[in-house]
Amino acid sequence: MSLSQLAKSINESPTLKLNETAALLREKGEPVIHLGGGEPKSKAPIDAIINCTSLLNTGEVRYTPPDGIPALKKSVIRYTEEHYHKVVTADNVLCSGGAKQALMVLLHAILDPKEEVIFPAPYWVSYPEMVKLAGGVPVPVTAEDGTFYPSVKEITDAVGSYTKAIILNSPNNPSGAMYSRDFVAEIVDFCEKKSIYLIMDDIYNRLVFEGKNAPICYDFARTPLEQSKLVVINGVSKMYAMTGFRIGWAVANSELTEAMGNIQSQQTSGPAAPSQWAAVGALNGVQSSVEALRMTLENNRNVMLERLEAIPGVKVTKPEGTFYCFPDFSAYMKDSQKLANFLLQKVRVVSVPGKEFGFEGHLRLSYCGTMKDITEGLERIQWALDPNSANELYLGDRKLVRDWL
Ligand code: PMP
Ligand code: GLU
Repeated sequence: MSLSQLAKSINESPTLKLNETAALLREKGEPVIHLGGGEPKSKAPIDAIINCTSLLNTGEVRYTPPDGIPALKKSVIRYTEEHYHKVVTADNVLCSGGAKQALMVLLHAILDPKEEVIFPAPYWVSYPEMVKLAGGVPVPVTAEDGTFYPSVKEITDAVGSYTKAIILNSPNNPSGAMYSRDFVAEIVDFCEKKSIYLIMDDIYNRLVFEGKNAPICYDFARTPLEQSKLVVINGVSKMYAMTGFRIGWAVANSELTEAMGNIQSQQTSGPAAPSQWAAVGALNGVQSSVEALRMTLENNRNVMLERLEAIPGVKVTKPEGTFYCFPDFSAYMKDSQKLANFLLQKVRVVSVPGKEFGFEGHLRLSYCGTMKDITEGLERIQWALDPNSANELYLGDRKLVRDWL
């Protein structure tokens, strides 16, 4: 078969693939615990459902403006005012099929061939592939000291004449690390001085623990939005547990959002109308579900941390937000792919290998599932790795006896 060089160079999203792997095993009756997922298990807010079904009930589900319906743009404007203390206009907003599409059209709109995009490692699995899809070159930056926090110097040292943008995802998928106010302030300042795009992927910025708040990039920006290369990406997927609706957005200068809208109009047209109305419902409706989710996640995180700390040799950094934990299992196996396969084969626990996030020796474990998933999943992992744990383990009614260590 003759495929393009581009198609041959792009890997499938490993996080989405693992959802399929878990579902297939479950269909076969396997007692799988999915700690690899990237979506909260709570229900979408009722206001989202009401708005969406109201449109469906009319039977008139049509194309929308390619950059989003005015009602959704208005909701995003209000959201930006409330949570970023920033006044923007409808021309500064582009609504897309998920934050993923907003990022993709953004990269298409700013990158010329071979231009580079810098992002800290560990990074979300899709950044390198998206940059490549848009003809650019991904440049991950790993902290010399082995932490999840590259210094400003490490990031800025990676900047060269081909650098077009820096992406910051804070709190971070997969580590849960949140960059400090000082760090964000210095990067905003640096990008303004160098005239480099700064893309803030804020998709997890409401899911932050211990009473902290994610730093707001606009607090440090001096350039007015219309001249600024600062872009904020967000969406309803994570904070409202609405991953399947596929609604995200970008806030940027109007020349850029117009270019992104043009690209989107040729690529997919506007996002699905029922989903846009659902997002309006979520953004304008009762907001208690966001705090309820945040509190549940914080509790889940604490339990997961406790269980991980009980496994000898596992090093774990406390996530400050998101619903991921990214422990270091290299004391057991350095190759994270092999370790993830081992855990899946032996104890039917799905995890995502650190390699996919540019960080070997680690596994990404999600705590967005049920408490039972977390406690049972971690019990199974401990049993599989720690030779001092009990000799037997039950997976449902199947008895396992340790015979491989
Ligand atoms: N950014 C990050 C860091 C993510 O983890 C995700 C998860 N899918 C996205 C963007 C995209 O989210 P969505 O397309 O569902 O809005
Ligand atoms: N962002 C989530 C994750 O990292 C969802 C899957 C995806 O879009 O890759 O698992």
